[in-house]
Amino acid sequence: MTLTTRFAPSPTGYLHVGNVRTALHNWLFARKHGGRFLLRLDDTDTERSRAEYADAIRADLTWLGLVPDAEYRQSDRLARYDEQFETLVAAERVYPCFETAEDLDVRRKIQLSRGLPPVYDRAALKLTAEEIAAKQAAGERPHWRFRLNTAAHVYWQDLIRGDSHIDPASLSDPVVRRADGSYLYMLPSVIDDIDMGVTHVVRGEDHVTNSGVQIQMFEALGAKPPAFAHEALITGTEGALSKRLGSAGMAHFREAGIEPVAIAALLARLGTSDAVEPVTSLDPLVEHFDFAHFGRSAARFDEAELRQLNARILHQLDYDDVADRLPQGMDAAAWAVLRPNLETVADAADWWQVIEGPVEPLAGEEDYLALAADTLESLPWEPGVWSALTAALKASTGRKGKDLFLPLRRALTGRDHGPEMAGLVLLIGRDGALERLRARTN
Ligand code: GLU
Repeated sequence: MTLTTRFAPSPTGYLHVGNVRTALHNWLFARKHGGRFLLRLDDTDTERSRAEYADAIRADLTWLGLVPDAEYRQSDRLARYDEQFETLVAAERVYPCFETAEDLDVRRKIQLSRGLPPVYDRAALKLTAEEIAAKQAAGERPHWRFRLNTAAHVYWQDLIRGDSHIDPASLSDPVVRRADGSYLYMLPSVIDDIDMGVTHVVRGEDHVTNSGVQIQMFEALGAKPPAFAHEALITGTEGALSKRLGSAGMAHFREAGIEPVAIAALLARLGTSDAVEPVTSLDPLVEHFDFAHFGRSAARFDEAELRQLNARILHQLDYDDVADRLPQGMDAAAWAVLRPNLETVADAADWWQVIEGPVEPLAGEEDYLALAADTLESLPWEPGVWSALTAALKASTGRKGKDLFLPLRRALTGRDHGPEMAGLVLLIGRDGALERLRARTN
């Protein structure tokens, strides 16, 4: 059987850092083992699911390079869910319940006031066939629960958490279908995982209890449960994943000039024993991916760390990787000069503007700059012209360090800091450089 993973978002919002991390790990694991990676849109909640969110999810995955091998939508599969649902009803693993939300609420309060866990008391299991028929004849519509087998704990070997188990007796039989006929996520997810040949379910540890329940659903449907990997959640710098990061879609990072590979590089390693490295493609991330490297404690997502990583990655990207996002006219030579000083690709436009001019000259040092212009004019215009110019000025004026260099930089760029002048001056060109050095003396 081909190793198969799936990423199963509900298209009720944009992907945030936590979802993307789950998608990435599913993708990396599948790629590493020559398997398949599926995108499944869990869109049974027709009121909250929207086509625009589904489109945004696809677009974000494409941007990140996590292209699925196939896509499914739960809304296309309702007939199949009905079929399997009926199988479970016939096997008495799913049963009808008629309590109203208010009834259940009152019962829960009573249990809590007695210090008992608020677990559903299975009163509906005691209804006779006649009682059920009478309620339905009277127009009552049931909701349906999956009957857990409470005789033993459910055990599994989690790929991250190791020996895992839950005690079904501590849980309410989960509602799998509402009175209006719609399905809750748990059962359709199991039916899909069986039909789509999913071999590994990789998701956040907030699903651990669901996994225990779902393992019983797999078995009730005569299927072998997949392997599970539950990841520790990530938190923001202020503790819980801050609201902004919890809800900020990939658009936020795109607009901030973050490279998709920087997001992948950070999220592939966050919470693992592997160091975060400035990689320029997903390949090395695939190669080193291993659930055995994941820790059990929550990992901290820090946007400042992402920005730093992004800059380090940018400093290694080739012109061809970024050419379509650079200002018109900016060539490979300019990219090579500017690259070490950029934090985002968009910053290149700012420096390109400096190169093309005009720049606002800064006041001061007019005599020194006039001498620099005359010296430059006498030198051959060639790649080493900057060191020839500064060596000549050092000899003729006795200046060194900041006194030697800073006035030149300020005149040529209008700024105190920036890329290496040796490269920059060549991009500015002979005429431009002379003009700038003389700007305040003309
Ligand atoms: N749609 C579910 C969620 O987003 C899927 C969980 C899963 O099975 O991976 O929570």
